[in-house]
Amino acid sequence: MTKVRVRFAPSPTGPLHIGGVRTALYNYLFARRHGGTMILRIEDTDQNRYVPGAEEYIIESLRWAGIVIDEGVGPGGPHAPYRQSERKHIYRQYAEQLVHAGYAYYAFDTEDELDALRNRLKEAGAEQQQYGITTRMNMRNSLTLPAREVQRLLTENAPHVIRLKIPEGEVIKLHDLIRGEVTVHSEQLDDKVLMKSDGMPTYHLANVVDDYLMEITHVIRGEEWLPSAPLHVLLYRGLGWEERMPQFAHLPLLLKPDGHGKLSKRDGDRMGFPVFPLNWTDPFTGEKSPGFREAGYLPEALINFLALLGWNPGTEQELFSMTELVESFSLERISKSGARFDIQKARWFNQQYLRKLPDAQLARQLAEQLKSEGIEQPEEKLIRIVSLLKERITFTHELLPQSKFFFYAPPVPDDSFIRKKWSGQVQEVLAAYAQALEEEKNFSADNLKHLLETTAQKLGIKAGQVMQPLRVALTGETAGPDLMAIAEILGQKECIRRINFVLQYAKPFVS
Ligand code: GLU
Repeated sequence: MTKVRVRFAPSPTGPLHIGGVRTALYNYLFARRHGGTMILRIEDTDQNRYVPGAEEYIIESLRWAGIVIDEGVGPGGPHAPYRQSERKHIYRQYAEQLVHAGYAYYAFDTEDELDALRNRLKEAGAEQQQYGITTRMNMRNSLTLPAREVQRLLTENAPHVIRLKIPEGEVIKLHDLIRGEVTVHSEQLDDKVLMKSDGMPTYHLANVVDDYLMEITHVIRGEEWLPSAPLHVLLYRGLGWEERMPQFAHLPLLLKPDGHGKLSKRDGDRMGFPVFPLNWTDPFTGEKSPGFREAGYLPEALINFLALLGWNPGTEQELFSMTELVESFSLERISKSGARFDIQKARWFNQQYLRKLPDAQLARQLAEQLKSEGIEQPEEKLIRIVSLLKERITFTHELLPQSKFFFYAPPVPDDSFIRKKWSGQVQEVLAAYAQALEEEKNFSADNLKHLLETTAQKLGIKAGQVMQPLRVALTGETAGPDLMAIAEILGQKECIRRINFVLQYAKPFVS
């Protein structure tokens, strides 16, 4: 069997969309699964759409996500260069080969003439205003002009394009590894431009020529390219390369969170989640878009989330490391229907991966966050804090906000809360508890709990009734991690101080 060679072939027209990361991921998983090669080719033939910084953005996104490029822009390789703008000289000969074989033709029509065609068709009520089977013989091209005239125009370097000549009355078939048999009537296709008048190839020509020259075995790409696939089949045929045509796999769309329509940047803006892997600032407008990385997502979590958007392992397993994904991945298990982009699921994955991080690593991050507030704390204490918090947070940037009360005494609780919760009895228990703490030697969470229970019992109420008021006194919050574990970390002096502080405010409100 020939060695698997796949490529991710983005155009640097802006930040890489999250769907592009998924396409790259599936290519990568497929390559690794089959011991093949993952290639990065930059398709930058459309100079008008070129955006500075986009290529670097793509490369950095893949690096961050852990998608390793074996060959291509970056690492280089036997088929260099891998940037299409640097391969410009390669394409024309193939376009001419197609002309000579009768699969393409020169077209000399001016912009005005093309406009006139479109208008004519529009007026006649044609559904599509295309240059193709029904219209090409009325235009100025090498099919309609005498051979000598064509020769003259070419020698004079008259502006022209090369167009694909779509065959008449044919059903073009291709086998897609995800969708099965795909058929298109040639009448639905137009004579696409292959070479532009500026000497640059269009996407279709450059894409097919490079896939062939780079010995690509499988084309795995988004569903939006499915309509182009029949044109590509015709190009392989015209160039005599049918034998080595790659296999196609068109991935399902990523859908909006409600499942209706394609996921767009606007959905992310509206609902407050990123649709790009990294932060991006548009170099022309200065407009900023948020990225998953900066929003606090761990690359492993994003990868796991994306892997399951359109592919399923056929089991209940949800958590997959990259290695496990490689072991389980197959194109057969990719679904045909679109995958709903559920950001809650992405957050869930982040939680799972955050929990797996070693406490020492989280403690270092918390230390960094504290540093920006000018606070320094012993590592041992931070480790105890993060181990309490890690089950409760989704992102590491929540470490400091969620643990503030360890470093700052909470503010006075609000009046209405005190009125409602701090009955005379509650205050009595808390005062007695503060007293008991003064004498306590063993400040372990278990012992502190025991002490609270006995103190409350003595005064005839259940420990449960004072838990929340005590929590508010110690943390300023009404919910949070295990309160006795918090008390243990806060330590004797601080616990007593905080309880007494609130008691002093609580007094005036009760009779
Ligand atoms: N340059 C195309 C893109 O931007 C590549 C499509 C393909 O993989 O053939 O997605």
